[in-house]
Amino acid sequence: MVDVVAQYRQVRERVDRACREAGREPGSVRLLPVSKTWPVAHLEPLLAELGERAWLAENKVQEAQGKAAELSDRGIPARWSIVGHLQRNKARHVAEFADELQTLDSERLAVELNKRLETVDRTLQVLLQINTSGESQKAGIEPEAALDLARALAPLERLQLRGLMTVPIAAAEAGPEPVQAIAACYDRLVQVQDQLRQDGRVPGTVDELSMGMSQDFELAIAHGATTVRVGTAIFGGRSYPEQPTA
Ligand SMILES: *Cc1c(COP(=O)(O)O)cnc(C)c1O
Repeated sequence: MVDVVAQYRQVRERVDRACREAGREPGSVRLLPVSKTWPVAHLEPLLAELGERAWLAENKVQEAQGKAAELSDRGIPARWSIVGHLQRNKARHVAEFADELQTLDSERLAVELNKRLETVDRTLQVLLQINTSGESQKAGIEPEAALDLARALAPLERLQLRGLMTVPIAAAEAGPEPVQAIAACYDRLVQVQDQLRQDGRVPGTVDELSMGMSQDFELAIAHGATTVRVGTAIFGGRSYPEQPTA
């Protein structure tokens, strides 16, 4: 079995090095461990290491909620970020236990989440998921739609806008210069951030840029990532197929 604590530390060091190389403060980038497909037993050493600082990300709500319940029963702290597409009929579950949703992609979902959060008297940090690759099968809203969605959050007091998230073009789809094609997706996210920051009607902050995974987080940091979502490089290869939606 892999030593998840040692691997986490190695990834953390690589993140810090990438920060220094980009002229940024080491530690200024959040390393978000993506625990999807791994049972709690596999995550425990890392959670023990991180203590109250622990965050975990999952792409499926049910899986996250099951693990959250198991950890809370055992008194192990962890905060939860949802990074997969969220269907509106599951907003209720997210409202109950998650601290962050990185895949907000419609006003209807935002309204539903806000209502559910009021019921349970909680708040939720949200990032808008932007489709920066132009691939039709990719989740997220078009970059051109980000401003309207961000403005629509103004009356929804239970949602705290924090920033933007993207999944870049798949390397296999990215043509002869995949690094450039992926970097272009990240640069596009920065452009959307600039647009939202300059607008007077966007509530909250747009400081977070969640981009970069195991294969490319150093590239993402060079292009401005403030959160990298890392699964495989910390926990090892996933052994059973993922479902595409939350
Ligand atoms: C699984 C997943 C990740 C982590 O991917 P790795 O390649 O295992 O690091 C990051 N973001 C999202 C949205 C994911 O679903």
